[in-house]
Amino acid sequence: MNKRRRFLALVGGALASSFVLTGCLGNPPSSSSNPGPAGTTLNTQASAKLETTTISLGFVPILEAAPLVVGVEKGFFAKHGLDVKLSKQASWSAARDNVVLGTAGGGIDGGQWQLPMPQMISEGAITNGKKVPMAILAMLMSQGNGIAASNSVRDGNLSVDLKKSSPGFFQAFSKKEGRKFRAAYTFPKANQDMWIRYWLAGNGVNPNKDVELLTVPAPETLQGMKNGTMEAFSTGDPWPSRIAKDNVGYLAATTAQIWKVHPEEYLAVRADWVDKNPKATIALLKGLMEAQMWLDKPENKAEAATILSSRKWYNVPQPVLEQALKGQYTIGAKGTPETNPAMGPLYWSSDRGVISYPYKSLTLWFLVESLRWKFYPGVVDTIQQAEAINDKVVRDDLWLQAARELGLPAKEIPASPSRGKEVFFDGTVYDPSNPQAYLNSLKIKG
Ligand code: CA
Repeated sequence: MNKRRRFLALVGGALASSFVLTGCLGNPPSSSSNPGPAGTTLNTQASAKLETTTISLGFVPILEAAPLVVGVEKGFFAKHGLDVKLSKQASWSAARDNVVLGTAGGGIDGGQWQLPMPQMISEGAITNGKKVPMAILAMLMSQGNGIAASNSVRDGNLSVDLKKSSPGFFQAFSKKEGRKFRAAYTFPKANQDMWIRYWLAGNGVNPNKDVELLTVPAPETLQGMKNGTMEAFSTGDPWPSRIAKDNVGYLAATTAQIWKVHPEEYLAVRADWVDKNPKATIALLKGLMEAQMWLDKPENKAEAATILSSRKWYNVPQPVLEQALKGQYTIGAKGTPETNPAMGPLYWSSDRGVISYPYKSLTLWFLVESLRWKFYPGVVDTIQQAEAINDKVVRDDLWLQAARELGLPAKEIPASPSRGKEVFFDGTVYDPSNPQAYLNSLKIKG
């Protein structure tokens, strides 16, 4: 079966109709302009000051996109004079191809990304050599991702600390099954791939040798796990929560357990759009920040879940989304219920500073990790190259300008592009002022 037919066969039903239009690589996304609900009419006074009043952004229906959807539905972008058109992307590769096309070619101006996709699109590393300079504008969300394991390995009792819960599991699996344990992610050489690799390697399991890693688009997750396509899946909620709720498997580890308040996905837009529309870029950022602040409030989680659950957006049952947004998880093979909003998706405040601000120390980590696994040879071969690429793509200056114009309190405006030292579940320290020391400290690498 070709890719598209296989995709349709797996997705089926209501989702298929919205994905068909966008499913084919390189095809333009469905231009679903979003006529917002009442009260979200464009602020024409604000619009008059902008270079353009529209931007087309891609999104993938996982919690990372919530600030974009809420920004549209609650009128935060419209308030600042911008009509944000969101189009659902069938896969990360479709999003990449659509941003290369740009709106002029029937594609998108930017949207939601796993890292280092924007940096690698800028360098032409994942676009057949075509360099499309991108601007990383903000982090969309922290945490809210996880590693789900299938019922077939429930006896394996997989958890964040495999040395404790499941010693020798992967070797025993290979011996028993006559093949390696299969773990999937939604796009190679980016966040989800890095989380599962970090988790395994941090537990002494070599992801290049002891398991088989493969790419499966997020909407195929549930079916793929039911069918035995893979034993584990690293992705954003609502998928890990759905796997647990539908009793297809269990949540082995949350990414918050692997790295507390870790960087997750980002908003990035084509640099030519930003250069041409600097005021509209600031309007976009202001709307996004206000949407993130709104999403952060406990009293808004249920309403956010209702908005996201609609067929137009995620087409996922409201309670699944509400629980995920509130940090209510069922963790581990035994299914222990745990509620801890601090370990759930974070959109604005945290004990490590403002989530939305694109700390260069965090966006750099994805390039350092790319070096660790030799993901992009010829593009990222040294720390110096990683830092140069990162400095070019991250536009924290625009975030700071938007924050000042919004009148944010000083404590919410970071004073440094570095968040300082980061500590992982296995005790490893990433000091952004000395990434080489971090690299040298890692025992398992590519
Ligand atoms: Ca993610």
